[in-house]
This record gives sequence, C-alpha cells and structure tokens, in this order.
Amino acid sequence: MDMSLQKLLLLGADSGSLARGIDLASERGVSCDGQLPAASDPDLVARALAAKTALGSRAMILGHHYQRDEVIQFADITGDSFKLAQAAADNREAEFIFFCGVHFMAESADILTSENQKVILPDLAAGCSMADMAALHQVKDCWKRLGELGVADQTLPITYMNSTAAIKSFTGKNGGAVCTSSNAKRALTWAFEKAEKVLFLPDQHLGRNTAVQELGIDLDKCVVWNPWKPNGGLTDAQILDATMILWRGHCSVHGRFSRENVDTVRAALPGVQVLVHPECKHEVVTAADVVGSTEKIIQTIAEAPAGSKWAIGTELNLVQRLANTYPDKDIHFLDKTICYCSTMNRIDLPHLVWALESLVAGRLVNQISVDTQTASNARVALERMLALP
Ligand code: SF4
Repeated sequence: MDMSLQKLLLLGADSGSLARGIDLASERGVSCDGQLPAASDPDLVARALAAKTALGSRAMILGHHYQRDEVIQFADITGDSFKLAQAAADNREAEFIFFCGVHFMAESADILTSENQKVILPDLAAGCSMADMAALHQVKDCWKRLGELGVADQTLPITYMNSTAAIKSFTGKNGGAVCTSSNAKRALTWAFEKAEKVLFLPDQHLGRNTAVQELGIDLDKCVVWNPWKPNGGLTDAQILDATMILWRGHCSVHGRFSRENVDTVRAALPGVQVLVHPECKHEVVTAADVVGSTEKIIQTIAEAPAGSKWAIGTELNLVQRLANTYPDKDIHFLDKTICYCSTMNRIDLPHLVWALESLVAGRLVNQISVDTQTASNARVALERMLALP
C-alpha cells in the first residue's frame, strides 16, 4: 500500500427498579449470544443515551483509548489501562462500572474497587492475546526451575499491567510489583535495588526496551524464557548469567511493526518523526524518534507544532482519532496494513447497549469478579506499583 493510501486510512427502566430487581449472583457470567441489538439499528445511539440517563450516577463508563469511536463517545472517562484502573478505584459512587476495554483491565478494576461495586465487560470475548501468553502454571514451572538453579531468591517478578489477575497475584505473593508502560523504568529500578535478576512478565518487548534503552543493561544479559520449551529453551548457564529473564509474550498489535516500516515511512515522508509504543520490537524502538506509553503518545501529538509530520506505531483507532483531532498536523499510521486490536474491538455499540439495557431491566450481565485470594495478592502487587518512588 502506498503512503497516500495509508493517509486515506487515517482520515477516513429507572434506578429504582434497579435497586429492587437485580439478581446479582444468578446473572454472573451471562453471555449475550443472540440477544444483541442489530449493529445496523439506527436507534442504537439514542438507546445507549436513554439507558445511560436511566442509570444516572449509579453507572460509570470507562473507555480505553483503543476503543471504537462509537463506544468512546459514551465514556465518562477515557485513558490507558492504568488511568482507567485508577479512575475505577477513585470512584466510590458508581455502583456499576462498564469497562470498555479488555478482560485484564476489568479484573484490575474489580480488584481496586470496593466490595459493593460491580465491574461489567460488555463482551466476555474481549480478551488480550498478550495476557493469555502467560498461564499461571507455566509461570510457576519457570519459578520452580529458577529455584532448582538456586536463583529464585535473587529474582524479583515484575509483571506488566497487561497480565491476568492470576499473574499479578503470583507477582504480589513473590515480592514483586505490577508496572505500566509509563512507569516500567521506575519499577525495574526498584526491583534491582532488591534483587539481582528480574523475571519480566508477559511482554518481552517492554521488558527488553526498558532494560536496555532506559537502564543501560546489556542486550546480552536479556534472555527469553519460552514456556513451550524445556528449561525455557535456555541453557542453565544462560539463566544464571542473565539479568533480565523476559517472558516470551508480545502484543499482537504492536508486535507487527517492523524496522522496514520505519525505513519505508522515512523514505516516503522526509522530515517525518516516528513515534512508537514500547511494546514494539527492539529494532523498531531503536529506530524511532520518540518512544512512549499511550498517554505519552497522545501528549506528544497534542504538544507538537502545527505542520509537523508524524508516523505513529500504535493501535489504529487511536491513530485515526489523533489524525481527526489534529488536522493541522500530518499524522500517518506506521504500518502498511490495518492494525486494530481485534479483541478490544469486540466491544462495540450493540454490546454496550445490550449491557446497559440489561441493567436498566434489572439484570446484571457479564460481571467480572476476581476471587478473594487472587485479588488479595494481586492488590499487593498493584499497591507496590502505586507506591513506587
Ligand atoms: S493492544 Fe495488545 S496488549 Fe493491548 S489489549 Fe490488544 S493485544 Fe492486548
């Protein structure tokens, strides 16, 4: 696809009945098969507005930056996963939190909110491929092997926010902390004050980029643990010599960007600045002009001078929104092909309307609830992150 086509891609019931009628326990885990309003229903926007108005301050809608515009228009707060988790934790008034994001984000919101607040994920199929790349039993096997090699007590687990509650819980139980793409450097600095090695879960790219680019750790000291191979696909000597043991996980959206994309856009658009997320591969991050979290990407574009030229390597919904918000800046998508987060995009207006209207009718659907023990240890890891200097 040529650059001009890339450019084209871018421009392109009342609350009383609620209190009386909801059967919380029996409705958990309900799916929406066959119950959705048709996506073509021209009244969807009006229906979403009516349901939101009926729920009033008892409901809050959180929208991740990678969501579709049709959903984000109803969000009370927009943000990245960390900002939205904080927003959920800070709000004690809303009894129902509609999380328009993916499963691990809704779990974090449930962990950080009070007992009487319910978190709803409008489509239970909205998962995260990266979070799914680290299963608890695999991480426990890895930790056991580190123990057999005598290095588990010199190793601290750090898990990215984009992980399941079970992995956050494992991390909290073993002395570690959660991190986000904006505080990964601080989390690793904190970890290396306490331990000689870090087991970084589940995004190898964020772990490697932060260790090498931000902390100056030698690339040779970063090894990748492959959970599908014996001994993680490593020799004992490699494990013993490593400073960073990176989990073999990646984001299916940011992992697509390549060095070739950067070279192509630089050749096609002289003067362009390449702005990418640290979940991108090391070869992309080292070739970029600016690297930053979702919030930093938004801030960078907001503060950029009119007429400046940018190629952005992050989720396409956000890049399109930035292009539409700042028509005075020349904004391009870094990849040659469409690159939405397919799981995040599962949350669409029909699912949101279905979840809102169900609640108005007195049915709580698709509640995300983390069990007490898992939540307790995961909260420790999250609170360690919040207390980072
Ligand atoms: S963009 Fe990547 S990390 Fe984020 S939810 Fe989608 S697959 Fe997961």
